[in-house]
Order: sequence, then structure tokens, then C-alpha cells
Amino acid sequence: MHDTVKNLINIKEEIKLNNKSYTPKIIAVSKTFKIDHILPLIEHGHFQFGENKVQEALEKWPEIKSKNTKIQLHMVGKLQSNKVKHALKIFDYIHSLDSMKLANKISTEQKKINKKPKIFIQINIGNESQKSGIMINEFEPFYEYCKKLELEIIGTMCLPPDEKDPNIYFSKMKELNDRFNISELSMGMSNDYIIATNYMSTYLRIGSKIFGQRN
Ligand SMILES: *Cc1c(COP(=O)(O)O)cnc(C)c1O
Repeated sequence: MHDTVKNLINIKEEIKLNNKSYTPKIIAVSKTFKIDHILPLIEHGHFQFGENKVQEALEKWPEIKSKNTKIQLHMVGKLQSNKVKHALKIFDYIHSLDSMKLANKISTEQKKINKKPKIFIQINIGNESQKSGIMINEFEPFYEYCKKLELEIIGTMCLPPDEKDPNIYFSKMKELNDRFNISELSMGMSNDYIIATNYMSTYLRIGSKIFGQRN
């Protein structure tokens, strides 16, 4: 069995042991890894993958995705407005909606192709100047704005501050989702996914714990 498959199975078991009440979805974040690392997971029956660059996704995924219609590709990285058109060709989900400009652009482009990506609004949960995302106190008007643009907002997403206890941030995210009755929550990476499951995260974005260290 390929290492990536073993790693995924171990992660799923660990999650089950920690929290028996639900099963989060796992996005295997395959950025920087070539398709030979990815194929064993697909053969194993895993179909949720994440990338953080439009260009890399367009180089890696079109052929394999056309052969496996169950594959769902998630854009987890920063998305520039001028790349939206290309992003919509390959991505089914966008986890990083972080500005009105980007919202406007997605709205325009999705109408042209008559296909809506499922979208997460990225929250700058630690109020960090170097991080993207909507501030919590600006969430409500932004969310309303997105709905007017007919974006298919399914959830919220965060990257908690580095080297701090993520519990407080994950808990704030869970509160926000509950307050607005939003069903999906994209949080938890290789270092903190177990903690994220304690706050009922629905999409864990896991890279190195599945694929190994990136160069
Ligand atoms: C790379 C990346 C991940 C996965 O990171 P790991 O620490 O390798 O699990 C998750 N989310 C985003 C936004 C990323 O860029």
C-alpha cells in the first residue's frame, strides 16, 4: 500500500477514536506533489483534493479529473481576481473568498459559464495584518453582499495564528457559523486537525501529514 494511503487511513482512525459523533471530510492538499503521489489515493477511493495555485492545478488536474468525475478540487490558497476565470475551469470549491472585488469577479464569471463553485468565506480570525480574510465584525454585511451576488456560500474558513493555541480561534469560528446558520466549516491542517474536530469542523485541509514534507 502506498504511504499516502496508509497516512490517510491512520488519520481517519485517529479522528474516529477522538470523536465518534461525526465524520469530517478530508481534503488531501496535494500542492507541490506530482500526480504519481496522488493516483494511489484516487485508486483507494479518495476524491477530495486541494491546491493553492491556479496555474499548478491547471497543469496537474484536467486530464485526471475528466477521467474521474467524482474528483472534487478545492482552491485553498489566495485567489487573485484576474485568475478567477481560469480557476473556475478546474475548481469545484473556493475556500478563500476574502474581498468584495473577488466576490464581484466570481459572480460575473460564474454567470458566463453557468456553473457555480461552492464557496467558503475566509475569516481573519486572529485579526492579523499579514493574513487575508474578512474580520468577524465585518462578516454580516459581507455575507449579505455575497448572497445578493448569488454566490453559493456554503461555509467559512480560517487559518489560525501560528504558534498560538488554536482552540480559541476554532471556537470563535464555530460560534460564527452557528450564529449565521452556516453548515460548513473549513479548518484544521496537519498540525491541528484533531483540535479542529473538537469544534465540529466539516472540512479538514491536510497536506504534509498525508503526502510528507514539501520542499
Ligand atoms: C498547504 C495548505 C494546507 C495544508 O497544510 P499542511 O500543514 O501541510 O497540512 C491547508 N490549508 C491551506 C490554505 C494551505 O495552503
